[in-house]
Amino acid sequence: MKNPAPSFASAVSDPELVGDHPALDLLNTIARVDGGLVDVWQSDEDVLRWLVRTELMEAKAASPARRGALLAAARKLREIARVLVTARKANRRLDAGPLNDFLAQAESHSELIRGKDGALSVVRRYEQTNANGVLAPLAEAVAEFLATADFHLVRRCEGEDCVLWFYDRTKAHRRRWCSMEGCGNRAKVARFRSRLSR
Ligand SMILES: [Zn+2]
Repeated sequence: MKNPAPSFASAVSDPELVGDHPALDLLNTIARVDGGLVDVWQSDEDVLRWLVRTELMEAKAASPARRGALLAAARKLREIARVLVTARKANRRLDAGPLNDFLAQAESHSELIRGKDGALSVVRRYEQTNANGVLAPLAEAVAEFLATADFHLVRRCEGEDCVLWFYDRTKAHRRRWCSMEGCGNRAKVARFRSRLSR
């Protein structure tokens, strides 16, 4: 994560969302690239783009004023989530304090809206003038995930050195890889080679 190459941010800042849940895709914003761990978040803009891609934010929403504040808060939330997800997966006792502190700083209200087809629905609007407000939907998604996800289906990719997490939503619940094209394919090639060398 230290001294990423200048071209890095644009090269891999939009990783595939393989986690199948924002709480895990959040952890996956630190990934292994060419053997080293890299942080795909290098700026406020990287975080904003990620939030839009994961549908935790509308495309037009404004960035908080102080530069770098969103990046710092997002990285902090990511580490809070990493500790909690790892502990929950290992059946260890959770300290919800840091996440609750984060959640407590969000301000939001409900709004009744009429869709294009005339149907009514209730949406939650967040006060987005500070970084924690922008990240509030993500923090809430993490809390919801910890409380309701089936952690038997929360797994790390079995790929050698791969650090990615996913929520196995496949019917048979036998998903083993972050992606079939990536680690799945590498494992297939390795099995093939070991058969040949026997
Ligand atoms: Zn993998």
